[in-house]
Amino acid sequence: MAQERIPITVAEGDGIGPEIMQAVLHILEAAKAPLDIIKVEIGEKVYHKGEPTGIEAKTWDIIRETKAFLKAPITTPQGGGFKSLNVTIRTTLGLYANIRPCVSYAPFVQTKHPLMDVVIVRENEEDLYTGIEYRQTQDTYQALKVITRPGCEKIVRYAFEYAKANKRKKVTCFTKDNILKLSDGLFHKIFDEIAQEYPSLENEHWIIDIGAAKLADTPEVFDVIVMPNLYGDILSDVAAQIAGSVGLAGSANIGQHCAMFEAIHGSAPRRAGKNMANPSGLLMGAILMLAHVGLPEIATQVHNAWLVTLEEGIHTYDIFKENVSKQLVGTKEFAHAVAERLTIKPKVLKETRYAAFNPFSKLGTKVHQKEKKPLKEIVGIDIFIDGETVEQIEKQLKKVQDPDFKLSMISNRGVRVWPVKMPETICSDSWRCRYISSQKGGTLTHRQIARLIQKMADADIDFVHTEQLCIFDKVPGYTLSQDEQ
Ligand code: NAD
Repeated sequence: MAQERIPITVAEGDGIGPEIMQAVLHILEAAKAPLDIIKVEIGEKVYHKGEPTGIEAKTWDIIRETKAFLKAPITTPQGGGFKSLNVTIRTTLGLYANIRPCVSYAPFVQTKHPLMDVVIVRENEEDLYTGIEYRQTQDTYQALKVITRPGCEKIVRYAFEYAKANKRKKVTCFTKDNILKLSDGLFHKIFDEIAQEYPSLENEHWIIDIGAAKLADTPEVFDVIVMPNLYGDILSDVAAQIAGSVGLAGSANIGQHCAMFEAIHGSAPRRAGKNMANPSGLLMGAILMLAHVGLPEIATQVHNAWLVTLEEGIHTYDIFKENVSKQLVGTKEFAHAVAERLTIKPKVLKETRYAAFNPFSKLGTKVHQKEKKPLKEIVGIDIFIDGETVEQIEKQLKKVQDPDFKLSMISNRGVRVWPVKMPETICSDSWRCRYISSQKGGTLTHRQIARLIQKMADADIDFVHTEQLCIFDKVPGYTLSQDEQ
């Protein structure tokens, strides 16, 4: 019986995209991967047709139906109005996990870290990448870092499942929860909770700054590293670069319903049309895709053929080194060399074996049993006011009297400046004025909060942002400033 073909959406992208995609498809065809390829157009041409997202409505349906999307790099046109297509695709399709294996191929590709074999698992939807930003005053801008319990659970569970399926030994978590106690604190807490379900895997947590330093210096001590979006974005490029080259790394963006696979580099427009580009990054993306759609044997075969090609010194210009490389080849010739080595195993580099790993069905939806809804009570409000000096703000606030509230502190850029201000503290023009109940430990209603804000408006106070202070089962859901109890 003929094997059922797996439908895949393919976008050739811009710049070097079409050349490297052609090279990759040549290798997949030679490996007899049973794929049904459906080509779509995204990127530069679509942007210039007047579609600011770079992708047409009909293309979404095709990706949704095929479930797997192999995408070559695209060029984001310079200038305003054009959105990053990558971010649009990831968030629209709920591709919550970004997976980047960063492996060194010493002695065939130069690196200071010949033993490096790290997989970065980056949260892909939340954090500062929600892009919620505000200009509040003349001098003050704010970006919102959003971290949710289901978001953390999905990515952390994915990291552990990935580690288990791929016979990895350890999962490390990087956060900055010594500073971001609530948001990164939640990520770390959930990591610790979920780690308990995987007793056969080691787990550890590093503060991101020293963790990043260790990763750059001694990457071989890490195995799988899971982290929030922004840290993952930065560190996965660092990890790919120190492994040898960003040009050799691919990535998978995994969701509950679809997944997208790509190279991590861009469209390199200056190299376009010259048959020079290295197709390896996109090939690594395609190999992750093969494993993901249930073709781990073909993924293994193609990966090993690629390792043999590197070992034999058949290199594109970007990794070519005198005395190590044997033959300088173009994009097409490199692809042919891989395709001709599909039955050979590497002799020096570690042979790869892919596990069938498809978390579409259960992982994304399995979240912890929701705890009993906590008792949420309002205990105050932070009102951010546009103004010049703390003395001016204090004078204005004297006009706002409400028996249910007391002003507990004013801070500027997170530093308390009222009732006491150090002369050295440098202030901007946004003042956080914290009002709490005038009764010790008292709670407040929305009506009382609204009345206070109305009084601010009546006093012509330029408030630019408010944030309610709540306690959840008596635990503060906000950070306390110095000296606050
Ligand atoms: P780039 O990754 O395209 O190029 C950086 C450098 O790496 C260049 O010197 C280039 O020649 C080299 N390079 C990249 N890929 C290579 C390959 N496969 N083989 C050999 N050399 C390679 O980054 P850039 O120049 O900053 O960006 C160019 C365009 O790509 C921009 O429009 C950017 O928005 C876009 N971009 C797209 C993606 C994506 O679609 N995933 C990612 C990053 C950048």
